[in-house]
Amino acid sequence: MYDLHTHSTFSDGSFTPEKLVRCAALSGITHLALSDHDCTDGIEEARLQAKECEIQLIPAVELSVSWHGKSIHILGLNIDPGTQSLQQGLSRIQATRLSRAEEMGRRLAKKGIEGSFEACVALAGKGMITRSHFAQYLVSIGVMPDIRDVFNHYLAEGKPGYVPTQWAELSEAIGWVLDAGGIAVIAHPQRYKLTSSWLRRLIIEFKECGGQGIEVVSGRASDGDIQSSAHYAKKFELYASAGSDFHGPMQHWVTLGSLPALPEDLKPVWNAFHE
Ligand code: AMP
Ligand code: MN
Ligand code: MN
Ligand code: MN
Repeated sequence: MYDLHTHSTFSDGSFTPEKLVRCAALSGITHLALSDHDCTDGIEEARLQAKECEIQLIPAVELSVSWHGKSIHILGLNIDPGTQSLQQGLSRIQATRLSRAEEMGRRLAKKGIEGSFEACVALAGKGMITRSHFAQYLVSIGVMPDIRDVFNHYLAEGKPGYVPTQWAELSEAIGWVLDAGGIAVIAHPQRYKLTSSWLRRLIIEFKECGGQGIEVVSGRASDGDIQSSAHYAKKFELYASAGSDFHGPMQHWVTLGSLPALPEDLKPVWNAFHE
């Protein structure tokens, strides 16, 4: 059983890599990718625990990309995290993340919410600071009752705490993944609210840059989403990936070890790991 998209405390997941791997093994997963946002620092810990639990750890990362003003997530699967160009790219995005978080703090302060940046630095620890940390902090101080409300009122695009950010270019992100010997995969293609013609355009450009896969089965995808992604996988001859996008037990609608099977007649992305 494969799960090729998960998060740990090195980004916005609530489990340490060690705990994530243990829970994955207990839930029957045999091949797990740790794919933190813009960070590979949790992979070593996950690898050690995977050895202990006798499951396969697939080193991975979820890269933040800006494409025509939209934020797109590109998974790099089966990468060598020690690759220099990848780490240089990650350092740049990490610096962007930090200054963006400072600016989010300033913008929220203008709305009367003080100290959010400092609180998120503490919450994130040695991991990436993400909007999820801001959401968690705002809920903890009672600004809004739940995470979803905070996103809708403060953190989603166009809301007061949202900071337009220039992430990596699509071509450079895919380049880093290729340098690292990995397979680039478009994460959760339904989540960008692209029209079908824009999604086609994304896929064409992605393939031109050397991208090879698309996430077909995802934790939050509906049957219709899966069918639609399967259609693109076939039409554009892409490998199909399956990943829960697990962040922790607070997202009770996504659990480890419960992904539906990939539709038949697709090429599973893990076939490409051994080529
Ligand atoms: P960032 O990469 O810092 O912009 O944070 C993005 C993360 O926030 C995503 O990976 C999700 O985990 C989370 N997120 C984005 N939108 C929402 C939402 N509407 N509700 C809950 N979590 C969200
Ligand atoms: Mn996330
Ligand atoms: Mn994502
Ligand atoms: Mn993710």
